[in-house]
Amino acid sequence: MEKIFWDSTLIKNAPKIGIIGSGITGLSAALSLYELNPNLRIEVLEKHERPFGASVRNAGFSCFGSLSELFSDSKHMDENEIYSLVEKRYLGIQKLLGRVSHSDICYEAVGGYEVFDDSENIELLEKIPFYNKLLFPIFKKDFFKDQTHQFKNFGLKNFSSIIKQQEEGLINPQKMIRALIYNCKSKGITFKYNYDVKEIQDNLVITTDGWEKYDGIIVANNAMASEWFPQFSIQPVRNQVYVTTPLTCNLKAGGYHYDQGYIYFRNVEGNRILIGGARNKFPNTESTHQFGTTLEIKNYLLQFLKNHLVCKSNITFEFEWSGILGVGPVKAPVIQPVNPFTIAAVRMGGMGVALGTNVGEQAAAKLIELLDK
Ligand SMILES: Cc1cc2nc3c(=O)[nH]c(=O)nc-3n(C[C@H](O)[C@H](O)[C@H](O)COP(=O)(O)OP(=O)(O)OC[C@H]3O[C@@H](n4cnc5c(N)ncnc54)[C@H](O)[C@@H]3O)c2cc1C
Repeated sequence: MEKIFWDSTLIKNAPKIGIIGSGITGLSAALSLYELNPNLRIEVLEKHERPFGASVRNAGFSCFGSLSELFSDSKHMDENEIYSLVEKRYLGIQKLLGRVSHSDICYEAVGGYEVFDDSENIELLEKIPFYNKLLFPIFKKDFFKDQTHQFKNFGLKNFSSIIKQQEEGLINPQKMIRALIYNCKSKGITFKYNYDVKEIQDNLVITTDGWEKYDGIIVANNAMASEWFPQFSIQPVRNQVYVTTPLTCNLKAGGYHYDQGYIYFRNVEGNRILIGGARNKFPNTESTHQFGTTLEIKNYLLQFLKNHLVCKSNITFEFEWSGILGVGPVKAPVIQPVNPFTIAAVRMGGMGVALGTNVGEQAAAKLIELLDK
């Protein structure tokens, strides 16, 4: 009987891992698992025929936290917790940029800005030295910089101050996910699309058509895990995004935040402006896991642009879409075991571009710990 030597060099019965969700968290977890143990058989399970969640619908800000966001966080998080969250976002982006090329994801290191249009910011501006000192070990430079004196160069109007957030950047979310999938496939990680997981029972992943057994599972479906894990208080909330027709305006390149990040805007290809958010102004319609856009938010964001963008063109929107965020009582993701075989890496909030890689990495490490027990 033939006995092929090469067969003996393959690891048989290597543990089989199922990852539910092909967004940035799931793909990053898959890559981190591979880095920890290249012999694992890793399978990514996606409900739709392609990635469909927030990772391909977001605004593409690689951001770490604006001054007003950090200040607002400080009301329910201590300094160490704020430091740790910003550090994880920063490390996440560094790791992401090590896995995919800058050009593949259209990464632009143009910085982020927070704009203010009222007097409330005076109190906040005084906090800049405090936060710069707190975050100095991460960025090795002052993270926040008051640039109000250069305001006329920004192509904006009707704001009273502008604060730069160094080291922030912009990406193309679809291209980021495509590059991560390509990276996964090059490592032998496999994908099952149109695979709608209904339930997880110990090491069984249950669909309407049957079940599949895994040695370990990572759940990375963000807001959509809210019904599976009520203990994590995951609240699905909607965010709407709009992109204008090409405009004659000169918005300085960067990712702009307003109202603690509830509104965000940036340039996108072809001199268009992307704007999104304002869910805090319409909590009744936006506290939902249903996709969809509304006339109220569309008009609100259009009016915001007309009020604040120096623009020679008539501003109209050409693209519109929505996405679902998974938020919780605190601004931190859940990375926890939910049974002896499964880690949940969910509730990613509004900064998953920066955080997703790090969360995937932590989930992978925790799953390996579980498997080793
Ligand atoms: C409109 C919008 C704008 C945003 N802008 C930014 C931004 O500029 N910067 C930033 O850092 N963050 C932003 N975010 C947040 C960021 O996009 C998310 O935090 C991040 O993408 C979450 O990634 P994820 O992989 O955990 O989840 P998702 O990207 O949501 O991926 C989950 C995947 O799981 C799949 N899935 C769901 N249920 C099942 C099931 N039952 N079985 C199998 N598969 C399933 C989904 O189809 C989806 O593909 C934004 C979010 C939204 C909605």
